[in-house]
Amino acid sequence: MTIDDAPRTGQEPPLGAWRLPDELVELRDTVRRFMRNEVAPLEEELPHDATGLDAGRLAPLQEKARRMGLWALRTPAEFGGAGLGVLGQVVVAEEAAKCRMGAYFPALGAFGGDPPSVLFQASPELFDRYARPMIEGAPGKAFTAISESTGGSDPVRAIRCRAERHGDNYVINGEKMWTSHVTGADWGVVYVRTGRQGDRDGISCLLVETGTPGLTTRPIGVLTSFSPHVLHFEDVRVPAANLIGAEGQGFELASDFLVASRIVYGAGPVGIADAALRIAIDWARERETFGVRLKDRQAVQWMIADSEIELRAARLLIYQAAWNADLGRAVRTDAAIAKLHATEAAFRVVDRCMQILGGLGVSQELPLERWFRDLRVKRLGEGATDIQRMVIARDLLG
Ligand SMILES: Cc1cc2nc3c(=O)[nH]c(=O)nc-3n(C[C@H](O)[C@H](O)[C@H](O)COP(=O)(O)OP(=O)(O)OC[C@H]3O[C@@H](n4cnc5c(N)ncnc54)[C@H](O)[C@@H]3O)c2cc1C
Repeated sequence: MTIDDAPRTGQEPPLGAWRLPDELVELRDTVRRFMRNEVAPLEEELPHDATGLDAGRLAPLQEKARRMGLWALRTPAEFGGAGLGVLGQVVVAEEAAKCRMGAYFPALGAFGGDPPSVLFQASPELFDRYARPMIEGAPGKAFTAISESTGGSDPVRAIRCRAERHGDNYVINGEKMWTSHVTGADWGVVYVRTGRQGDRDGISCLLVETGTPGLTTRPIGVLTSFSPHVLHFEDVRVPAANLIGAEGQGFELASDFLVASRIVYGAGPVGIADAALRIAIDWARERETFGVRLKDRQAVQWMIADSEIELRAARLLIYQAAWNADLGRAVRTDAAIAKLHATEAAFRVVDRCMQILGGLGVSQELPLERWFRDLRVKRLGEGATDIQRMVIARDLLG
């Protein structure tokens, strides 16, 4: 694998020891074309802080993506998806993030079809009823609610939202906080306390429909362009058959997918940093101050050089973690290092690019200020930077 796309310099770097496999180069180029030809023109029509496409525009875009095979990419083939490996998912995530909404709506949501991964562990009945239609192209999305006001980093201790078994139902009482993608979702998975407070095996995973009586939601304003929600449960009854896995297995199920998803999570910021740097380089080549182009100022050159270094390192760390994950190696530390570096570095790169662009950098004429806000939250999501450090240190120190 090598950094085989160096569009900013216009030069192909020498081949290194590794190359992306040919089929992934092809996949990357396909996504790149899709972003240029289908997504970019559509995005031009949207307001700066748009948080998705209306159904009338999303459906045809998704249809085009499906025809190109860009659908349900994360869903294993045995469940009807494209079954991409982690490296494949990374390659797509990196390219699909290169639009204004890319941090939270890669490719404007064109590549849908993936249910929350925990559904692959659900009963066949539950899977067929909720996940399969999504994979087959039915509109809609699903949320995953783990965090509560008591904390997101340490769910084992923090989860207090309780579900009690009453006959053929569970009755849920409590509150979830920060749940993304609630708007437009008909259902989601909710991690609830079914056992003793603080016990790892006291957490279970229930599928809950958003229309269930007793469930109310309210948005929370944050600095990202979209709002996560509070989910309030008051005697919410869900069938016991909506339990995913066994009672008490919720934390284990959530952890199963966490490592790979962290790697893919870090790939989007790499794509955004790449796109931001391209904007800054174009600007530095053109803009003159005091009779000299910005590109000829060492202060600007160094910001560009530092950004390229951080970006390349981030991409390699993400690719390496993904590569190892696909080989079935233990990648907890690789994933933590890659997620931490990619999200932190991307934030620094976008910040530098905004500086190079001056006032325009912080304006809504360009995507930079939106990326800056969205990337700020990426340093908290899927395990905050501090938590990744904790994982790395634990693995090193024991
Ligand atoms: C926009 C947005 C969308 C989100 N979407 C979802 C979602 O869809 N589903 C969901 O379940 N959650 C979601 N979250 C929640 C997110 O995962 C949590 O905010 C995150 O896990 C941190 O939890 P917390 O906010 O409760 O902070 P806490 O866990 O209370 O931590 C507070 C601070 O202390 C640090 N810290 C914690 N423990 C340690 C330690 N051991 N050592 C050093 N520092 C530490 C943390 O890194 C953090 O900076 C979302 C959050 C936001 C802002």
